Amino acid sequence: MTVAARASTLFADVDAECIPDAPIGQQTWFKIGGRADVLVIPRTIDALATIVSRLSRDGLPMRVLGAGANLLVDDDGIDGVVLSLSAKAFSAMDVERGGANSLIRVGAGKDLFTLLNELARSGLAGLNQLAGIPGSVGGAIRMNAGGHFGDTAQAVQSVEMILPSGAKATFLKDALHFNYRHSGLPAGIVTSATFHVDPTDPTLVRQKHAEIFSWKKSRQPFRENSAGCMYKNPIDRATLERVSAGKLIDSAGLKGLAVGGASVSAHHANFFVVQAGALASDVAQLSEVVSDRVFDHCGIRLEREVVFWKRGGDE
Ligand SMILES: Cc1cc2nc3c(=O)[nH]c(=O)nc-3n(C[C@H](O)[C@H](O)[C@H](O)COP(=O)(O)OP(=O)(O)OC[C@H]3O[C@@H](n4cnc5c(N)ncnc54)[C@H](O)[C@@H]3O)c2cc1C
Repeated sequence: MTVAARASTLFADVDAECIPDAPIGQQTWFKIGGRADVLVIPRTIDALATIVSRLSRDGLPMRVLGAGANLLVDDDGIDGVVLSLSAKAFSAMDVERGGANSLIRVGAGKDLFTLLNELARSGLAGLNQLAGIPGSVGGAIRMNAGGHFGDTAQAVQSVEMILPSGAKATFLKDALHFNYRHSGLPAGIVTSATFHVDPTDPTLVRQKHAEIFSWKKSRQPFRENSAGCMYKNPIDRATLERVSAGKLIDSAGLKGLAVGGASVSAHHANFFVVQAGALASDVAQLSEVVSDRVFDHCGIRLEREVVFWKRGGDE
């Protein structure tokens, strides 16, 4: 029996949509890569909990897709079940106003651009640092998205998850050991997060978002298909400081280097951009070549930030 057939039997009584042979590569920001055996979209948190527990019980591979802004899907697609939190139940936002102790609780499926717009309208600062970063709340928590203006973790109060058993659990920020582009989440799926926010003048929030977004747009190739930075900024062993991976790639003379339809952006060397018709294998090969050439040039081994999904095991 195919995974799709198994999933539709397994979830026949669950409030979820099952889409066999789903072209999820096209749903990523790269817009390349293959299909998932089955994409499952639960409509409620309880449905998600049931799905996760049954998948764990039956040993079927499961992955969760956010907005696909930090993801490369292999050309041959991926095995098992991909879960999407795109249903309405996963994008709600509740505001608890309490002056300096105000909080928002946001569903993990919420799109960051939409969230930032809603926060600006409501006059709530606290997540300004995420202006211009594409993704979902769940993906931002998992990757601890951020940059020059701060990261996701700095605003987190707690994170709610469904664990592989299907149990719901809440983790306070300190238990998650956030670090640079890293979260210490246990296995499972983020369903919502609670953030500290500061009530302030909506015009000021909007201005700050615009300022940060235009800073990013002037430095990153926003009009081309990419997955953001390919590598994390590595730690220089001599200084113990993080150094810009983009600068290392640039100083190795690799801007514009191409494999098939994938190339190192001329605008920002840590962005790989793809043309129509590019293959995921072009991106994967380019990332090997760049990593080796940077190592040869300066002795620093780059670690990939973009998540690669492939059959039989991710990278
Ligand atoms: C143009 C561009 C600019 C970017 N700029 C930045 C930047 O400035 N700073 C930065 O940090 N990043 C940047 N990125 C990368 C990306 O925006 C972030 O990594 C973002 O957090 C990815 O979120 P996502 O929802 O798209 O996750 P996805 O790409 O869908 O998934 C990434 C990983 O998170 C996991 N995940 C997703 N949702 C959940 C969930 N609910 N529970 C558990 N795990 C989950 C996935 O399984 C996967 O392992 C950029 C990307 C692009 C395309």
